Amino acid sequence: MSHKHSMMILYLIAAGMVLGLLAGWYFGEDVLVIKWIGVLFMNALKMTIIPLILAAVISGVASLGDVRKLGRPGGLTMLYYLCTTLLAIVVGLILVNLIQPGVGVEMTAQAQSAGSSLAQEKGGQSVVDILLSLVSPNLVKSAAELQLLPLVVFAVIFGAAITTVGEAGAQVIRFFDGLNEAMMKLVGWIMYFAPLGVFALVATSLGEAGGGEAFMATVAGIGKYVTTVMLALGIQAVLLFLIMLFLSRRGAVYLTDMMRALLTAFGTSSSSATLPITMECAKEHGLSERSVRFVLPLGSTVNMNGTALYEAIAAMFIAQIYGIELGIVEQGLIVITATLAAIGAAGIPQAGTVTMLIVLSAVGLPAEGIGILLSVDWFLDRFRTVVNVWGDACGAAVMNRTMMADEEKAIAEVFEDKIEE
Ligand code: ASP
Repeated sequence: MSHKHSMMILYLIAAGMVLGLLAGWYFGEDVLVIKWIGVLFMNALKMTIIPLILAAVISGVASLGDVRKLGRPGGLTMLYYLCTTLLAIVVGLILVNLIQPGVGVEMTAQAQSAGSSLAQEKGGQSVVDILLSLVSPNLVKSAAELQLLPLVVFAVIFGAAITTVGEAGAQVIRFFDGLNEAMMKLVGWIMYFAPLGVFALVATSLGEAGGGEAFMATVAGIGKYVTTVMLALGIQAVLLFLIMLFLSRRGAVYLTDMMRALLTAFGTSSSSATLPITMECAKEHGLSERSVRFVLPLGSTVNMNGTALYEAIAAMFIAQIYGIELGIVEQGLIVITATLAAIGAAGIPQAGTVTMLIVLSAVGLPAEGIGILLSVDWFLDRFRTVVNVWGDACGAAVMNRTMMADEEKAIAEVFEDKIEE
């Protein structure tokens, strides 16, 4: 896609988002007649995810060459993601302690029952469940249920194995390279549909929440909580931006180039569904194939800065509502469990709200507390998904530089060996 072309689509998506909000506000529930358009867009994106993830990760890992060298980029990427996740949680905890949004908020009976039925429906998820979810006993079933984490794990290991089997392996790598390119082409085509899709998704979710007025009434009730989450998300986005500027040495243009992905994240509330577009934007910006195919898919499943911070704030908010004091030890527990809950959350709408049960049970808070958050969750979910995708994009830019440096070093070493010979 040419630059002019991409910019035009970007403006159209932005217009779709604004018009969607206006339509949802004005028409309320009546806007649901166009719900199918949003569903069609989501389905089109989801359709590409499985072949794209497999092809991209396998060929991305295989392009790193010898498996023995895989350790460094893989390890550094995980380390980077872990650090930014912890940073996000710290930002969230600082703000929630300063603002204290839950003090003085009353819980309605309706909210309580909504929360407990969500908890019952989803069942408990523990830390062990998250660890177990890394390896699937049935890849086809995981793919069918769009559980991407075990697929990414498999693709990384398979991609590494393939580099060790010589010529036969090289042919398989070429197959996945081709599949990846074709899938990216397809995503480019779906992109043309994004403005309309985002319009419909945004309009219908506001419509479902009862239109503008109903929504504003809820926000007024728990406005401090919404403000705390939004403020923390904004701060984390800026911090990520600064980290990106500093570590990747890329200019602010990186943000503009990623904008189509960020708006799609807002529209879809799903980092997995946005992944194809994130990859396209990063590729068009000029990141290396390796960071596009390896760092981004990995990030979209394990790195969720927005979700991590939201989990910490929401848990503290619930504690404040119930008048339960959480000291340093409990807040330390929140740091650990929110990290795991963010890693375990799938990149689908409101996944973080469900994995929050892990955080709540770890510090002994009532699961019904979630009820009060649900009314504004569709809205906060969109913003946290944007930060999740931005976090991955910044990670890819940073790792791009490290990987390039490694590559140059390896080439230089080969030259030195040759000269010595
Ligand atoms: N919707 C988020 C995402 O896809 C996950 C969450 O619920 O926090 O990134």
